[in-house]
Amino acid sequence: MAAKKAKVKAKSKAKSKAKPQATSRSASTSRPAARGQSSERDLLARLKNGAVICAEGYVFELERRGYLQAGAFVPEVLFDHPEVVEQLHLDFVHAGSDVTQALTYYVHREKLRVIGREKDLVPMNRAALGIAKSVARRTGTLFAGDLCNTNIYDPADKSAIKEVARIFDEQVGWAVEAGVDYFVAETLGWAGEALMALEAIRRHSKVPVVVTFAMHQEELTRDGLTPAEACQRLEAAGADVVGLNCHRGPATMLPLLRQIRAAVKCHVAGLPVPYRTVPTQPSFMSLTDPCCGDRRAFPVGLDPFVCTRAEIADFGREAFALGIRYLGVCCGAGPHHIRALAESLGRHPPASRYSADMSKHAFFGTDKQIRKIQTDYRDKA
Ligand SMILES: [Zn+2]
Repeated sequence: MAAKKAKVKAKSKAKSKAKPQATSRSASTSRPAARGQSSERDLLARLKNGAVICAEGYVFELERRGYLQAGAFVPEVLFDHPEVVEQLHLDFVHAGSDVTQALTYYVHREKLRVIGREKDLVPMNRAALGIAKSVARRTGTLFAGDLCNTNIYDPADKSAIKEVARIFDEQVGWAVEAGVDYFVAETLGWAGEALMALEAIRRHSKVPVVVTFAMHQEELTRDGLTPAEACQRLEAAGADVVGLNCHRGPATMLPLLRQIRAAVKCHVAGLPVPYRTVPTQPSFMSLTDPCCGDRRAFPVGLDPFVCTRAEIADFGREAFALGIRYLGVCCGAGPHHIRALAESLGRHPPASRYSADMSKHAFFGTDKQIRKIQTDYRDKA
């Protein structure tokens, strides 16, 4: 393993110009370790004890906050405003995420090539890993490495396959160097690409691996497997947790999660997007908005489809009852969704201190201090 690691290191000699590091030491969200140190960083031990909540969808939230450009969706914010990435991680932990996942989504060689920043590949990956590790260690959350869809995978193209292998190998290498507690390989449309990601991780690391597919409108992977079949293959190849993330909202992801749960023995992951997808438009990319000539809503017109907190809570309860223990919300998730998910599982994260309490509302309150002149006006409010 050491030799392989050195080989990966040799590929990453680019000098780091920017060294964004998380600096704040006064995290308001730090919390004491709930369990012994040994299980604290052990994903599988935590899953044995109950649910693990993982906030994902960072690029969408950073776009919404004005720090990332929709389209390429590359998190250049890692250099431009590392403090914003750190705060986002802290916000999700405050809201109940058990995991701080490195923002290496779309920080791979292919995406940086598309935006003309391939030279920044190494420092940008290291920045993402450094920020996430700092937050994870301060907050007692799991520190996850992240691999994702390369967008060049083509089973018929040998040179593309070679490049995919390079992309996975080098990103795994930097994450291993950073000391991740486990790996996530996510938003994968091809079973073949998912297997390559898993193999790359297994070549360099023994930590647990979560692999999640993102299903488009078709209920088949790009290489023609049902999600249940694809997950069975990943389980057989050594994945510790398999399932789905992104693309589909709770309503159109749950039926597939049910099939996966019945098909595999290992833990199952479910991280939908918080959008009201429907059987006729089952993916968030396929949603059209009747307000605007049925224009495609993805990616910056999705607001009218956002799930309420109650809908995310319903998803959390239903998925957990099905036996799905690795839970989260992907692109479009805000901290309020993560808090609703956490509370649906009986948790009380720090952000729950501010969960809604309408008893003292100026019109709808039931508290005796609320004046009658206000409550009498309730139906006209
Ligand atoms: Zn997503």
